Amino acid sequence: MSPRVVRTAAELRALEGTIALVPTMGALHDGHVQLMKHARPLADTLVASIFVNPTQFAAGEDLDSYPRTWEADLERCEEAGVDVVFAPEVATMYPAGLDDQVMVDPGPLGAILEGEQRPTHFRGVLTVVAKLFGLVRPDVAVFGEKDYQQLALIRLMVDALCLDVEVVGCPTVREADGLAMSSRNRYLAPDERQRAVALSQALDAGVAAGSHGPEAARAAALARLADFGVVPDYVAVTSPDLGDPTPGEARILIAARVGKPRLLDNRALTLGRAPEGS
Ligand code: AMP
Repeated sequence: MSPRVVRTAAELRALEGTIALVPTMGALHDGHVQLMKHARPLADTLVASIFVNPTQFAAGEDLDSYPRTWEADLERCEEAGVDVVFAPEVATMYPAGLDDQVMVDPGPLGAILEGEQRPTHFRGVLTVVAKLFGLVRPDVAVFGEKDYQQLALIRLMVDALCLDVEVVGCPTVREADGLAMSSRNRYLAPDERQRAVALSQALDAGVAAGSHGPEAARAAALARLADFGVVPDYVAVTSPDLGDPTPGEARILIAARVGKPRLLDNRALTLGRAPEGS
């Protein structure tokens, strides 16, 4: 059955039973569909939101050119068993306008990695997610590990603001060659699409070198990126909660432009101790 499209808070308030929410910015791909399929059995009603959130884009970023594929998105939602697509107008999400808003301050975790490159990004992300939680009032919300720092910050926000929502993370869905699926991949020119595999290969190299410690993992990832001529914004090896890495469970994260599109990827890894004297 095709999903019902709703645009207002009043329509959302009429929903019955438990609610699972998958927030998206549309231009849906198999990564989004997996989140929806994962969310489907978690509640009576599955809501997917489609909203390109202006406040998470800085001036000069790709807000205007962000892909919008409404008809295809509805088909993807239907295929994934979505009951309700919430597609609000900007004025519904930002009744007081885009300036002069009460916004969620992401704190120190929002200032590192992506936050260093995009200083206002997570403020916009957390604000829109908090608004979506207030409007949809979900019991559970599902997000992708693809945006690992975003997922970590949403978990922190839910704890810090005492929001009664269970946050569930889902593994990254990849193309056959390892490239993490992303709405922005469609803007890769054919030669860039080939080079874009550099990110997942660099993560693989980092994971393989992890037993020699965090610096070795980072160096291996950087070397693989260099093989493809890709210069990253950052390659970071962190603890699972994005702090300093210690032996055991860790995360490796990369952001890099390949041509115009800016790509993100990350993977779990296990760190050994760095060799003595390194
Ligand atoms: P976006 O539409 O890019 O804002 O993403 C909406 C949700 O889909 C976020 O929770 C993302 O982390 C998630 N997502 C995007 N790409 C992928 C992917 N390749 N695999 C899994 N989840 C993803």
